Amino acid sequence: MSTITFRAIGGGAEIGANSYLIGADGHDILLDCGLHPKKEGRVALPEFDLLTQAPEALLVSHGHIDHCGAVPFAMREFPGAACYATHPTVNIMDRMLHNSVSVMGMLAVEREIRDYPLYTHSDVDAALRRCHGLNYEREFSPTWDSPFRVSFHHSGHVLGSASVLLRTEGHTLLYSGDVCMTHQELMAGMTLLDKEVPVDTLIVESTRGTVELGHTITFEGEVDRFAEEVAKVINDGGCVLVPSFALGRMQELLNVISRLQANDRIPDVPVYASGLGRAIYEIYHKYTDFLRPEKTLRPLAEFNRIGDVWDGAVRRNLLRSPCIIVATSGMMTENTPSALIAMEMVRDTKHGIFFVGYLDSETLGYKLLNAEIGETLSFEVDGAPIKVRLGNRQSFNFSAHANREDLCKLIDHIAPKNIIFVHGDPDATAWMSQNTSAVYRKFIPTIGETIALES
Ligand SMILES: [Zn+2]
Ligand SMILES: [Zn+2]
Repeated sequence: MSTITFRAIGGGAEIGANSYLIGADGHDILLDCGLHPKKEGRVALPEFDLLTQAPEALLVSHGHIDHCGAVPFAMREFPGAACYATHPTVNIMDRMLHNSVSVMGMLAVEREIRDYPLYTHSDVDAALRRCHGLNYEREFSPTWDSPFRVSFHHSGHVLGSASVLLRTEGHTLLYSGDVCMTHQELMAGMTLLDKEVPVDTLIVESTRGTVELGHTITFEGEVDRFAEEVAKVINDGGCVLVPSFALGRMQELLNVISRLQANDRIPDVPVYASGLGRAIYEIYHKYTDFLRPEKTLRPLAEFNRIGDVWDGAVRRNLLRSPCIIVATSGMMTENTPSALIAMEMVRDTKHGIFFVGYLDSETLGYKLLNAEIGETLSFEVDGAPIKVRLGNRQSFNFSAHANREDLCKLIDHIAPKNIIFVHGDPDATAWMSQNTSAVYRKFIPTIGETIALES
């Protein structure tokens, strides 16, 4: 029997600054190191004050900011620590983290957030120099005297995303990271671990723990519904806006749209894609071996640049003839390309705004999706309220996260002794815990709580 310890320093019963400390034999390792998507300033960081010693390494599951956004800060705090991720994730972190510095710099001015930026471009460069890229399923030791042996395994969520397998003498732990069990357009579903690998502890995401009947919606079914609705708008002379995350959803949706156009399912109008998503798209090109082998990634050059969306004339010009625009941010944060383009579109009735992912109830995207016609909303920080005349606002389910039934199946496939539910609202982690067998020892951690895990 061998005991290891778990402590959440961010992202306990929430989708927050995901970061989990694993301790064994006096050594500590950090799984993920994210920034809280809904908080601003220093409070968006994981609670590093809860650490009693410097971690020997950071292991990053994938390039979304709620998993890697605090890496440059942590690497500056812990100069002896190394960082490990898959090769694509290291590349993606480079783009995402430099972008994060720029966004924080803008928010420091716009909203007078004094803590911003939490790190600089040179901090990002310095952190990445200590960041090692690895292939899937290659076991390594983070340091020469580490009690941990580590390997990354394909998790099906976005390019480079990984579940992390940690082995110590007598204890094996699997951290799911963000997982998708089914195929998306480009990403193949998660590779299940061999049943021969006995896992003592599973740390599992619970993002969609509150979403009912997810199993009745298939990716291809949503593609069909999306195609019909897009065709209607374009045929009526309107434009379609698809607010989208820069990493994952953007590349997936552009390739869905391209396939639908090639198959004459939707009219062959220009397709536009916004900035950071294009930069990430180039990384998808670099690592096509990591995508579904039967798919061909469409060339980025097929998709036009949007231009300067901060210029009202450019936006109005864009909407003059039918087109499809895929733009960040996915939840339509004020002042982002998707918000600024939507601001023009809602004044007219012929367009369509199609959301394709999770919308937090406090976001502009959620408010716009649910707004009554005639209601007013602000699309810019401190901007004038705009009356919403556009009725065609819809949501499509192109989630890159496993539904809760699939997560339960994953748990039973792995059949661990201990399960720790993370990365979900309290209702989501509670549903997951209530709907998995009582034979497992189950934990829903709060921030700072130390859990001793026995094998
Ligand atoms: Zn993610
Ligand atoms: Zn996540």
